[in-house]
This record gives sequence, structure tokens and C-alpha cells, in this order.
Amino acid sequence: MYKSTKFIFITGGVLSSLGKGLTAASIGTLMECRGLTVSLLKMDPYINVDPGTMNPFQHGEVFVTDDGAETDLDLGHYERFTHAKLRQSNNFTTGQIYDAVIQKERRGEYLGQTVQVIPHVTDEIKDKIRDLGNGVDVAIVEVGGTVGDIESLPFLEAIRQLRADLGPQNVLYIHLTLLPYMKASGEVKTKPTQHSVKALREVGIQADILICRTEKRISRDVKEKIALFCNVRPEEVIAAEDVECIYELPLKFHEEGLDQKIVELLNIWTRAPILDEWKAFINKVKALDQEITIGIVGKYVDLHESYKSLNEALFAGGVANDTKVNLKFIDSEQIEKQGLEGRFDDVDGILVPGGFGSRGIEGKIVAVRFARENSIPYFGICLGMQIAVVEFARNVCGMAGANSTEFNPDTPYPVIDLMVEQRTIKEKGGTMRLGMYECIITPNSRCSEIYGEPMIRERHRHRYEFNSAYKEELEAKNLKAGGTSPDGKLVELVEYGDHPWFVGCQFHPEFTSRPMEPNPIFAAYLKACLEYSRRKRVQVSEPAMTEGEALYA
Ligand code: GLN
Repeated sequence: MYKSTKFIFITGGVLSSLGKGLTAASIGTLMECRGLTVSLLKMDPYINVDPGTMNPFQHGEVFVTDDGAETDLDLGHYERFTHAKLRQSNNFTTGQIYDAVIQKERRGEYLGQTVQVIPHVTDEIKDKIRDLGNGVDVAIVEVGGTVGDIESLPFLEAIRQLRADLGPQNVLYIHLTLLPYMKASGEVKTKPTQHSVKALREVGIQADILICRTEKRISRDVKEKIALFCNVRPEEVIAAEDVECIYELPLKFHEEGLDQKIVELLNIWTRAPILDEWKAFINKVKALDQEITIGIVGKYVDLHESYKSLNEALFAGGVANDTKVNLKFIDSEQIEKQGLEGRFDDVDGILVPGGFGSRGIEGKIVAVRFARENSIPYFGICLGMQIAVVEFARNVCGMAGANSTEFNPDTPYPVIDLMVEQRTIKEKGGTMRLGMYECIITPNSRCSEIYGEPMIRERHRHRYEFNSAYKEELEAKNLKAGGTSPDGKLVELVEYGDHPWFVGCQFHPEFTSRPMEPNPIFAAYLKACLEYSRRKRVQVSEPAMTEGEALYA
């Protein structure tokens, strides 16, 4: 740990989903813009060892880091808002902590002591937090859950102790709350905030700064009232008004004086933040003058949190093309039940994202076929690539019943299959092909145009692979490998030559996309969608032929 590392702890009160992750990420942005280095950590209060085995309906997206950790989706925000390189150690759960403590106990490392929450569990938490401080100026720690929950108590106790351990000048507590707006009386209410600050005080933590989510602009009076009841100064009450675009948050916080207050309280000497890049980006976002719609065919369509990084990557790819991207989520099971029924009439591109399990698979295959046969730009990510290969094998190469062995172990044409290493694995957690792998791009391919470099590095999270036994047959019909693993054994990208834009990748490019530096494959896909949308409009507006013209046509 740097002698001078400062720690910022972010807790949340009143209710969940207030945007603690975005708040932590935005504070990271502001500290970086002041020339400081940052690292971020999310502590999750559930017992699962990681979110990898949790249903995306409940937990949202699983974000994958370079080193193959399956983490909370807030780490995606952290990486998109800062330059911090995140790893396994940047997210831990209660489950991981207990796992470590119990293993130590079994190894006899506690020398006969009674192992307890305090100090053994809290010490384990504190060690991990201290490690986060290694080599950075500011370590930002987000405490998952809501203050008042039983589950997050050990985390709160650990961060309470750390103020004494590290010195009060090195530790700052920021509490995020909600100011509900009551329509009937036309005012914002401060009582829930007062109560949650009190709940935090009950476990020994006095918040230094309050960030209050609010729909309406709040007056100085409201800030004064909150300050009085919550034991802070009015300038330590920061209003977090709803924003149109999440990337505006650092700028809004800066206007409210948040970063200035943080450096003052932590006694850090820095320059004023340089926010020009962020301002220019937001100005560009607000000036987008074209629109396209992408049809996303998936299973988790009711919970957009399940595709968080994907949504952000599409947004960023759109901005790079001066285009606003609307997302139309289409439930693949509905396609199975009711057919296509004009579902794609208003889309300018079709995308099948990652996914697991056989539910809705046939609907996705129908969607890919529609994209292929109607020259609609198609982008398949992970499962979306596998589905494209299955569709192509069945409908172009005549391999009836072709499938992935994930969905039909007895398929006559297992075009997607488990590799040898995966066949022997019995445990589910953390056993997929995970994390960063190199991919060699096929020269003179569409993928080489997209990437403009001979080798890329992308993150993976899957068990099944393109079965190379079928590579020749598929390539003969023009579905070619656009990139492979360095040893040439694994196909990482496929592209169909007889189509304006039909590409699938086995990796997840959404995890490495950044708002101002979109992953090239997203920028290229959205460019193709924009061109398709223009062609479509030209066709529609072309005047119909008169009878006379038709006669000579
Ligand atoms: N279910 C597929 C596999 O395990 C795809 C996974 C994914 O899309 N991330 O290979």
C-alpha cells in the first residue's frame, strides 16, 4: 500500500438501485481528471463466491475482466469511466471471504482461537481493502447492499475500523441516498435520508459527504436542512439530479463541487480537473442527428441490466458514427410461438448476444436466417456466433439437424461442440473458458478491415466452440474464419462473404469497449447498419413506376 493512499468508501441507503456503481465510477473519473491514479473495488454481500453461477434475471450481467474473473456489472462501469485495470481482486463477495476464513481455519492458521466475525471475518475484509491501495493514489470502495441490511454489517464494521487503522485524514465516507419527490405537496422529502444517515451512525460511521438522488432540482434550503439533521455542512450535500446520459454524471458532480470537497477533506493537493474530453463527448452525444434501431434477439430481454455492457458498447459505437442507437429487445421465445410477424420491419440491424441454455434457441435461428436471407447486417456475439454457424450449416450446407451439443448432444452435425478440456469438468463455477485470449486475424478478410491489425486480444466466457471438423465444409460455402487462436485450432470470428455484413465472434467485445473508444467491431457493425438504413430509405422513397415505364422495364 502507498503510504499516502486515500480511501473513499461509498455506501447506499433508503433503497437499492440508486446508482452507487455509477457514483463510484464517476468519482474515479474526477480523481483521474485531477491527475490522480485510482483503483476501484466492489464488495458484494451475498454468499455466492462469484456472480458467475447466478441467473442474469436476478443479478444482471456478469462482467468479465482480463484475468477471467466473473464479476459484478459495476466493474463494467468502473472500466468504462476510468483507466483502472481491474482484476479478480477488484470484486469480492461475502462467500469468498468466508471461504478464505474457513480454509485458513482448516489449515490451523488461527492457532486454536475461536473464529468469529469480529475480528477474523472483518480482518479478512480489511486485508483485501488494504491491498487495493497498492500503487494508487485513491482507492474507491463500493459497499454493496443497503445500509440497514443484516448482510452488509461485516463490511460496514470493517470500513468503520479502517478509519482508525489508516488515520482519519486518509478515509472518507460517502453515503448515497434518495430524496423522494411528493407530487401532492410538491416538495422533496428529506426524512428517508435522515433515517439512513442515522442507521449508518448506529454502526459507528458518520457520513462525510451525502450524495442525494433527486428528480427535481433542490434548493439551498433543502441542503441546509439535510446538513443540520445529518451532521454535515450544506456544501457536503451533493445533489445528484437525474441525467439523460450516464456519462454526464462526472460533469454534474463537478458542478456540485464534489471532487473539490473530496480532495479538501482528504487533504490531497491536485490540479483542477481537466474535463475537456468528457465535455466534448457529451456535446457530441447531445448533437447526434441520425438514428437507427438494432433488434436484439435474446432471452433476458425484460431486464436490460442483463446486457449492460452490450448496451453501452452499442451506444459508444453509435456515437462514433454520429448516430443515436435505439435498442429493440425481441424475445426469441415469442418468435418461436408467433413467428416473425413484422418484428424486424423497423430494425436496421439484427444482433444475437451471448446466452446459455436451450430456451429460445430456435427463435434465434429463425432471426439469423432472416438477417442472412434479407441482407440485414447481422452481428452474433458468443452464443450469437454459435447460432449463426448452426443456421448456416442447416440452411446453406444442407446439414439437417445441425446444432450445438449444448442444445442437442445427439445432433448428427455437432458444428458447435465442447473441446476436450471442457468434457471432464464437473463443477459449474469458474470453469468456462474465461478471460483474455489472443486472436490472429485472417489477412484480407472483412475482420482485417474491421480491426486493421493482425492480432487482437478479447475476453471470453463460454464452454462451447466452433467445431473445426466442419470448417472446410462451411468455408466452401463462404462462411469463413475471420480470426483464430494463435495455434489456429479455435475459430474466434466468422464472416459470411455473400452478405453486406454478417459477422460472429466467439469472444465478448462489449467488455473492452469504452465510451470514447468503442471496440472496432461495434463501430464497424453500426456503420454497416447506418448504410443499410440509408439504402432502405432510398428504396422506400423511390417513386413507383408508371404503367408505361413498367411496360418497357
Ligand atoms: N452457451 C454458450 C457456451 O457456453 C455461449 C456462452 C455465451 O454466449 N457467453 O459456449
